[in-house]
Amino acid sequence: MSDDRLDHEFALETLAIRSGQLRTDENSHSEPIFATSSFVFDSAEQAAQRFSGAEPGNVYSRFTNPTVRAFEQRLAALEKAERAVATASGMSAILSVALGLLSAGDHILASRSLFGTTHILFDKYLAKLGIQTRYVALTDLTAWQAAITSKTKLLFIETPSNPLSEVADIAALANIAHQQGALLVVDNCLCTPALQQPLTLGADIVVHSATKYIDGQGRSVGGAVVGSHDLLDAVYGVVRTCGPCMSPFNAWIALKGLETLPLRMQAHSAQALRLAIWLQEQPAVEKVYYAGLPTHAQHLLAAQQQTAFGGVLSFEVKGGKAAAWAWMNATRLLSITANLGDVKSTVTHPASTTHGRLSLEEKQAAGMSEGLIRISVGLENIEDLKADLNRGFAVLL
Ligand SMILES: *Cc1c(COP(=O)(O)O)cnc(C)c1O
Repeated sequence: MSDDRLDHEFALETLAIRSGQLRTDENSHSEPIFATSSFVFDSAEQAAQRFSGAEPGNVYSRFTNPTVRAFEQRLAALEKAERAVATASGMSAILSVALGLLSAGDHILASRSLFGTTHILFDKYLAKLGIQTRYVALTDLTAWQAAITSKTKLLFIETPSNPLSEVADIAALANIAHQQGALLVVDNCLCTPALQQPLTLGADIVVHSATKYIDGQGRSVGGAVVGSHDLLDAVYGVVRTCGPCMSPFNAWIALKGLETLPLRMQAHSAQALRLAIWLQEQPAVEKVYYAGLPTHAQHLLAAQQQTAFGGVLSFEVKGGKAAAWAWMNATRLLSITANLGDVKSTVTHPASTTHGRLSLEEKQAAGMSEGLIRISVGLENIEDLKADLNRGFAVLL
């Protein structure tokens, strides 16, 4: 089996296709799936050597698996990282970071605009282990600076945020974290390394839900943690011991997904920008949230940090929830589902689904109105998409 011979010398598109290549003696061109739970040893002596770590090599697929490793190597190359560890899901990636790097008494300082389940993980399950989380506004650097204490061990953000596309200054937050001896963790799910590489801006760890753009076609659930050898050793220990490892089959899907990731992210971004501009002109639309629009509060920052603005946008229709639901129900092409990052365009009403557990005051504080609609813009023909959105607008007039 030949090992990865390429590394950081190639451009992103090349690394996406060629890094982490996996060839067996059969010489299959596409990387094989090692659908096996364990690996055989030549002798009792070798088994002992493998178990003790004296001899490198595969033992058991909760520890290592060649298909999973190929995905990890390819993702690490794209994020310009020393190492990646694949996990069963995006949530288990975040959990593994917390279990690996935090202890009872440590604090997390996080952005208020987070994926809903991440909030639950922090507030319900990490709190039970004695790890407290405080929240600040993603874009308010003064608030981050004021809230960090000697107990803060992790700063945690998503940028751009979902659904309102707020953009955080990664380099500035990394600075604030490092001055206090804390680490900055970035959930890079919405941009992927094809558009933004947080480690090159000073972040310490990147987490991914591979379920979204990395798979790209809504077929599997997966995740990953990316960073330095040092930090990832601790995270790997959790995955190996506690068991939220990625299955070889899901790793194969994610690995093949990475091959087209740069191309897809450019295409998703181009479609979303065109739709965002078009949506601004629609009379039933109150406001469009997309960092690619020059009127967006953090447009310049997003343009510096990212090579494009991504595929997720949201907009507010006049008439609140009734109008938003009527709009969604009138579309034919858009799939009503909470998932994002698929080649199929998807639509969701955050106030009654992903953010439904927030109180009215919390929704207002978060800027989440009842008329807000989020679209993950897919790769269908743009005119067909506009025609579909117009089906929604037709019932509002
Ligand atoms: C979906 C998502 C997650 C969780 O990932 P799963 O693969 O569903 O566990 C975490 N963060 C963000 C931003 C997400 O969109």
